[in-house]
Amino acid sequence: MSDNYGSPLDEVPGYIKDLVPYPPGKPLEEVEREYGIKGPIKLASNENPLGPSPKAQEAIRKAISSVHRYPDGSCYYLKEKLSQLLGVSPLEIVVGNGSDDLIDFLIRVFIRPGCEVITSRPSFLVYTKMVQAVGGENVVIPLSDYHHDLEAISRAVTPKTRLIFLDNPNNPTGTTIYREDFDAFLKGLPDHLFVVMDEAYIDFARTKQTPRGTDYVRQDKRVIALRTFSKSYGLAGLRVGYGVMDKRVAEYLDRVRQPFNVNSLAQTGALAALDDHEHLDKTLDTVWQGMDFLTKALEELGCRVMPSETNFVLADIGRDARVVYEDMLREGVIIRTMNIYGLPNHIRITVGLPEENSRCIEALRKVLGQ
Ligand SMILES: *Cc1c(COP(=O)(O)O)cnc(C)c1O
Repeated sequence: MSDNYGSPLDEVPGYIKDLVPYPPGKPLEEVEREYGIKGPIKLASNENPLGPSPKAQEAIRKAISSVHRYPDGSCYYLKEKLSQLLGVSPLEIVVGNGSDDLIDFLIRVFIRPGCEVITSRPSFLVYTKMVQAVGGENVVIPLSDYHHDLEAISRAVTPKTRLIFLDNPNNPTGTTIYREDFDAFLKGLPDHLFVVMDEAYIDFARTKQTPRGTDYVRQDKRVIALRTFSKSYGLAGLRVGYGVMDKRVAEYLDRVRQPFNVNSLAQTGALAALDDHEHLDKTLDTVWQGMDFLTKALEELGCRVMPSETNFVLADIGRDARVVYEDMLREGVIIRTMNIYGLPNHIRITVGLPEENSRCIEALRKVLGQ
């Protein structure tokens, strides 16, 4: 039937039209095909170089025969286990399809047109994108010497501020907030907002000075901590993360989530991974050693390297990184350029296995002409 009301397509708001899809890393197979390279390596998405926890793999294999069942919509066992590990109540935990899911819930519950969300630039790209998707206002504060500028963030707070996102340690710089600064920051903040500590990389932090959001949730109702199984636990493809927060906040997030947002294999894998201390220890050892190697090697190549508390390193290579990225692809090494983060002369390299790190440095030496 024809009418004169037009199409829903005509009504898509400007803030949706202006969204830019998240840039994916180049798939390995694509590099193989496009550049005719055998066995390229991917050091672009901050994945675990050792792969998934063997215990998780075994548990997932066993659980496959039950995938005709719907998952446990409440993530009962996973929440129980996390609550024991973190010393909080299961009612203070919400599990998501990756921690991205938690970011989405928080924004959908608390943000609507007229609300402001403060983030740093550069930091994780997902925050501003999701804020824009619901018509909220992004207030973006530049980093100060590659660190979150907590003082500037405090000054940017208005009566309309609802959420402050701090990825700590920060992606893509790898830098951490220091506890002393964070405590002073919290002290100066009003009560009408939440501070979201996105702790995707917290397991990799070597300094004792990194504040851990999960330690704060109980004493400060404004703090929300997000964690993920995607990085240190090596389960990025399964999509599972969680948030720890005041019970009343958790109740609201629970209302907006899909009933089966975390699939059964993800729940099973995450639960088993939490018991795989050996794999986590090995992961941290591998990453820390690789980090030291890469940092030193990059500095020897004349790059400025940011002190990283994560499993990746940001380097200022002093020239257009897009060219270097392309040349590195031809050498079979996938890294990340930082143009979309506003850092055109920087590359981000995920710490890989020792042989991958060496290969990356060899390629970079060649590409940088040294
Ligand atoms: C990788 C990453 C995440 C994790 O996202 P998942 O959805 O859990 O895979 C969250 N925040 C930051 C800053 C990240 O870099």
